[in-house]
Amino acid sequence: MQKIRLQTHSRTELLEITQQVENIVHASGIQEGICYVYVPHTTAGITINENADPSVRRDILNTLNKTIPFDGNYTHAEGNAAAHIKSSLVGTSASIPISASKLALGTWQGIFFCEFDGPRSREVFIQVIKSEA
Ligand code: ZN
Repeated sequence: MQKIRLQTHSRTELLEITQQVENIVHASGIQEGICYVYVPHTTAGITINENADPSVRRDILNTLNKTIPFDGNYTHAEGNAAAHIKSSLVGTSASIPISASKLALGTWQGIFFCEFDGPRSREVFIQVIKSEA
């Protein structure tokens, strides 16, 4: 298993990690398979979405922050219930097919680490699994 270490800089943030993941796939030498991307945190997530126009990630973040406000009628004493809820909604993993030694992402797709309770030091776990074809 490989790890990507990240430092986030805002309370909420979508950080693109496509190139780091692609580098790990390339270094693995695996031509066909699956790349499993996993976040071992309860207040962060992983999503795949458009990386061409930065307004998309801004809109995703703004909508999540509006839908799940930081201050709500929460019971979690740590004060970061909104971050836990966002993590569960977005999810903590993604699986991307590998074809011809590359991530088989769509033209406009990128992989994003989602910070919901930053700024913090974070990790992403990457497991590259070989298949026969
Ligand atoms: Zn908490």
